[in-house]
Amino acid sequence: MIFTEMIYDVIIIGSGVAGSTCAKTLVEKGCSTLVIERKALPRHKSCSGILSPRAWRFIQDNFGEIPKSSFSKPDYLAGVNFCFPNGMQMPVDFVESEAPQVWRKEFDYWLLLQSKAEIHDNTNFLNFEENPDYIKVNCISHDKNVSYRCKYLVGADGPFSNIVHQLYPEFRKRFPFVFVGQYFYDADLELAQNRFHFFVNPKLGYYSWCNKKDQFWNIGCAPLKPGRFLEFQRRVEEHLKKKHGLKIRRILHADGCYENGGMSATNHYLFGRGNVLVTGQAAGFLDFLGEGMTPSMISGKQAARAIITAQDTGQPLINLYEEMTMAERIHCSDTWNPLQLLSAKPLEADVKKAIMKLPAVDILYVLGGIAKLCKNYYGLGWGIPMIKAMLKRFLTGHY
Ligand SMILES: Cc1cc2nc3c(=O)[nH]c(=O)nc-3n(C[C@H](O)[C@H](O)[C@H](O)COP(=O)(O)OP(=O)(O)OC[C@H]3O[C@@H](n4cnc5c(N)ncnc54)[C@H](O)[C@@H]3O)c2cc1C
Repeated sequence: MIFTEMIYDVIIIGSGVAGSTCAKTLVEKGCSTLVIERKALPRHKSCSGILSPRAWRFIQDNFGEIPKSSFSKPDYLAGVNFCFPNGMQMPVDFVESEAPQVWRKEFDYWLLLQSKAEIHDNTNFLNFEENPDYIKVNCISHDKNVSYRCKYLVGADGPFSNIVHQLYPEFRKRFPFVFVGQYFYDADLELAQNRFHFFVNPKLGYYSWCNKKDQFWNIGCAPLKPGRFLEFQRRVEEHLKKKHGLKIRRILHADGCYENGGMSATNHYLFGRGNVLVTGQAAGFLDFLGEGMTPSMISGKQAARAIITAQDTGQPLINLYEEMTMAERIHCSDTWNPLQLLSAKPLEADVKKAIMKLPAVDILYVLGGIAKLCKNYYGLGWGIPMIKAMLKRFLTGHY
């Protein structure tokens, strides 16, 4: 066992967008900060890599311009295209600007280096022990047991978070995780290259989509049962062949992971305990359409601000963090709330305007299609909590 002498102000588990944003804010305030990452850096991340206009503004304000080397072609997307079972398409533009499209490996590493935090990669977090004066953080690094010490610990370790599991052992049973997988195809497809295509089609699983990245078409789905990914992926392929002229030459690469969208859909976020915070997707920040980088970065920054304020004022950390994330939690849950989607613009795209432009018969078809897709989510046990959250928001203005 190796012990490190130093007691860091903050140790962050996970070098994704939440961890890096948290680290940058802390380092700027003079906190000694260590980021621990289990993979070798720069690391691959299963993701479409689309940064919402809000994420782009946040990055410009907090990190500067995204380097050219992070972009994938087309480098900016104009909006989303909702595709329906009969082949009908409903393009919706982003309201304020286009959305940059990046490769996560390059983008996340750039963000992490900008933080100027100390970084230990190839280091797998195992568990933590709370002591009166510090938190002991146990890891395995390059096959050796290593223990670190810190005053505050931040879990930014993504949807299948070990820190969340240690803090809330029952949690993984309460909210079923959804498997999301994607293939990268060398293929022709008759869909606009500068849009994210989302299939409003309950037969293709909880969620299915495609987007063009460099020479690939990235096509993926979340099957109704994790073990049935290949079956659902074939359904998506068949649908695209029939309705959108997909011609596959080769499948080049596949990846996937478990996602925890139920937390934001039903407004059940996690904050942590004592001097241990959870942030980013580990805490439940994931927008509808699987867009999680924006709320993860924003919550990561708020985790850092909460630590700095708690240190300066002695106020309870978790209360501060809960308060500071309130607006982002409301925004995030609004993206899953059909009433908000139709009355406000939480997705930064005017869905209501696009629907109202359609002929009456298509409006009914679109609304019916959305309702049928939502029905899938009842199988996950999200239905009743989502309706309760939606009604509370409608009646009280918050969740
Ligand atoms: C297929 C797919 C497509 C997506 N497309 C988009 C998109 O286009 N736009 C968008 O905004 N979002 C998208 N998302 C969601 C987005 O990827 C996540 O919401 C976002 O990455 C969450 O950021 P994070 O920093 O919280 O966690 P992550 O990015 O998951 O980072 C967590 C980090 O913690 C590390 N880690 C985990 N466990 C440990 C451990 N025990 N010890 C040490 N390190 C550990 C991981 O290796 C990882 O590097 C997509 C997700 C998927 C699966």
